Amino acid sequence: MGIDVWVPRDAADDYADTDTDVEPPATDGLDWPELRDCVAGCTRCELAASRTNTVFGVGNTDADWMIIGEAPGAEEDRRGEPFVGRAGQLLDQMLLAIGQSREQVFIANILKCRPPNNRDPKPDESAACREYLERQIELIRPKIILAVGRIAAQNLLSSDEPVGRMRGRQHNLGGIPLVVTYHPAYLLRSPSQKAKSWADLCLAARLAAEVAA
Ligand code: URA
Repeated sequence: MGIDVWVPRDAADDYADTDTDVEPPATDGLDWPELRDCVAGCTRCELAASRTNTVFGVGNTDADWMIIGEAPGAEEDRRGEPFVGRAGQLLDQMLLAIGQSREQVFIANILKCRPPNNRDPKPDESAACREYLERQIELIRPKIILAVGRIAAQNLLSSDEPVGRMRGRQHNLGGIPLVVTYHPAYLLRSPSQKAKSWADLCLAARLAAEVAA
């Protein structure tokens, strides 16, 4: 996803002093209402023309857990909320199993708008949307990020590895531990993989507890 090194804000300011040619991101310094407005009015990519609603993300802005999926589907586009279809119901159950709820965590996607016919996000769409997600992560500073599915994992980790090779171990996104697991929509089709996903959730819970300690 192009996030290489995240540094504390003070240190980032030091870097900024030495790199005067680089434009600060348009989301720099935005608070939650400003960021939400920015997303609601976004026309950075062609998905703006076909969306019904932007899907900003939902949950606790002070969350320990941040769950990042791929992109809104048809139902999410209609309701303006991530993971509200069948996959969302399974995600809620997965969260419950580790003692978390939709209200406790923050749920977002790589894309804030629905790609037509649920196709994969195009690289230019992910790039155009990246700043919004980065600002959300920066504002929340979660203890753990759970990337669900290939698109989320590959974008966040700038990797083309399959999920099966990325899951089951700790990654790092700018100092925040990140765990990859299967997308709940995939688990609905392949329930035999649920045991691996459970192991991923347990790993994420352990890492979050370590950060909290
Ligand atoms: N799948 C996703 O990755 N995100 C959603 O919001 C819904 C389905």
